[in-house]
Amino acid sequence: MQPPRLRILATGGTIAGSAGSALERGYRPGQIGAADLLAAAKGLGLSATFEGREIAAIGSQDIGWREWDALHREIEAALTDEGVDGVIVTHGTDTAEETAFLLDLTLSAGKPVVLVGAMRPADAVGSDGMRNLANAVRVAGDPAAAGRGVLVVMSDQVFAAIDVRKAATGGAEAFRGFPRGPIANVTPTSLDWFGPAERTGRPARFAWPAALPKVPILYAYAGMDKGEVACMLSGAQGSVLAGLGQGNAPASVIEALAASGVPVVRSSRVDQGSVDRNLEVDDDALGFIAARGLGPAKARILLQVLLASGISDPAAMQAEFDRR
Ligand code: GLU
Repeated sequence: MQPPRLRILATGGTIAGSAGSALERGYRPGQIGAADLLAAAKGLGLSATFEGREIAAIGSQDIGWREWDALHREIEAALTDEGVDGVIVTHGTDTAEETAFLLDLTLSAGKPVVLVGAMRPADAVGSDGMRNLANAVRVAGDPAAAGRGVLVVMSDQVFAAIDVRKAATGGAEAFRGFPRGPIANVTPTSLDWFGPAERTGRPARFAWPAALPKVPILYAYAGMDKGEVACMLSGAQGSVLAGLGQGNAPASVIEALAASGVPVVRSSRVDQGSVDRNLEVDDDALGFIAARGLGPAKARILLQVLLASGISDPAAMQAEFDRR
């Protein structure tokens, strides 16, 4: 069988990070260019052929519309290129969940698309980058990875974009899936899927937007003042509440949000658990949307895509948040 032909799209992050020495604490993400990453991938000796393109060379805290637009265009091109079997995006871990979910919402479930990063720079002792890259090659080269949406590969596990979260600031095992855990285990020599692909042949859920609207996230806390709502929502087309517990906030904040005149999605600042409708907050009366299993960062991406797609009716929006 012909080895899979993979396209690597580099954006930077710790997987391309360098500290300058194996024992340095500080480091700079995005120091190793696409050509060097490609050479490293080839040097792994895996059964695959590679070509690569550099989208950016930055820490993913700086990623935004310009990089997302370029990435989406490049992946679309790869999906229709008969010479490409799968796509690997090298990415910083800080915002990997946002990029993965945005792409997941806007790409067809055709060929494997895999985001991969690292928690330790390339020249650190015990760097996880090449291991994760080898695992990503394994996943992107597997025809069974198609039809599962965008995937994130970290620490010998494969996560679906809709589930994945960065759940720790340090350590190689920093990623978790919620409400589903990993959907496969992977090593450079093995790949075990836990179930069949569910999206085979499905078109993209949303068209790629022309731009993404301004949607701030309000982080709730004890003693939060309603004055912050007006301040944060200036010029916004929607807002996401990173609420307390089940998406709660002080009564005055809830009132201010209801009066804001823009769609409000209630999510939680708690790492796990879903936010459901009408528990302590009367979503029906206030016109709010419950984020269900999406954390604030991904709830914001979905709200932006919905607004950009002209979907602003609360019931229609809620139906999209209910969908998996
Ligand atoms: N903050 C950087 C980023 O997200 C480095 C962290 C990482 O990649 O793990 O790109």
